[in-house]
Amino acid sequence: MLIVPENEIAGLATRQAAFDAVEAVFAAMATGDAYNFPVVREAIGHEDALYGFKGGFDRGGAALGLKAGGYWPHNMDRRGLINHQSTVFLFDPDTGKPRAVVGGNLLTALRTAAASAVSIRHLARADAKVMGMIGAGHQATFQLRAALEQREFEKVIGWNRDPSHLSRLAAVAAEAGLSFEAVALEDMAEADVIISITSSFDAILVADQVGPGTHIACMGTDTRGKQEVDPALLSRATVFTDEVAQSVSIGEAQHAVAQGRITEADIHMLGAVINGTNPGRASVDGITLFDGTGVGLQDLAVADAVVERAIERGVAIEVDF
Ligand code: NAD
Repeated sequence: MLIVPENEIAGLATRQAAFDAVEAVFAAMATGDAYNFPVVREAIGHEDALYGFKGGFDRGGAALGLKAGGYWPHNMDRRGLINHQSTVFLFDPDTGKPRAVVGGNLLTALRTAAASAVSIRHLARADAKVMGMIGAGHQATFQLRAALEQREFEKVIGWNRDPSHLSRLAAVAAEAGLSFEAVALEDMAEADVIISITSSFDAILVADQVGPGTHIACMGTDTRGKQEVDPALLSRATVFTDEVAQSVSIGEAQHAVAQGRITEADIHMLGAVINGTNPGRASVDGITLFDGTGVGLQDLAVADAVVERAIERGVAIEVDF
């Protein structure tokens, strides 16, 4: 069995490899070649932690396994550790033997950023110029970096509950040679692409704060009860997702479905757009919305790519297990 420790991941994983792995596995999910197992997520009653498993099997990519981990809210304050902690376990689908244990913390950030980037590649208008960000936490900088590679953006605008954190986004925009402007939510209408990546439990963005032709990637809502946008926006938009079952239960669409504004049948798989079986954006004026709930197959896909790279570079630790 191979071990690829967390401290090796930064030297092995790239945004491009994460993008390619996530795009391929979304496509495989839409054909049925890959499927996710039901998510387990538990408040364990210790350290206020949320712990769980996301797993799946990709026949084509021969990736079988799970990501185990979650959120320990006191890690940073009490121990100087990041609050999100996860590990990916890969198994040999032919024998069931463990194949690799891979650090999952940086990979989670990269695969989540890759998901919104894939949605922008396939759903945003080709002439998108203004990139809008809602949220400026740990994950937001990863999302922005990957998004800026998808179109010839000319400017970044951003909103965060605590505006002092927006300097992180300004720094990423500057790396790409772009200007950054902190804006009010009403001014988000200027954006051609919007990513929301917050831990909010209430709608932040309302429908009339989104202009025609915009693509929105809602990435923060990954748990029952969380919410980032007005459900009315989902009725106005063409809605896409990584996984329909998660979208209606733990994703942004949970609220619009519960209110009867849309049904499961109105939610399309992004993988079908990648495969060309769904036309995706139908008009320049339409709003497209990607509900990125985060699936186990994304984790397996990026971990698998990292294991291959670790073997090539001779940094995978082999143990007799
Ligand atoms: P973080 O704690 O570093 O940042 C949280 C962000 O949410 C900050 O910008 C904060 O200002 C904002 N926020 C919190 N409560 C808010 C509220 N009530 N109203 C408006 N803004 C609010 O977290 P992070 O690591 O950046 O992750 C952000 C979210 O993304 C988390 O909720 C996490 O669970 C989710 N996430 C989703 C996926 C996925 O695959 N979809 C993957 C990783 C993280």
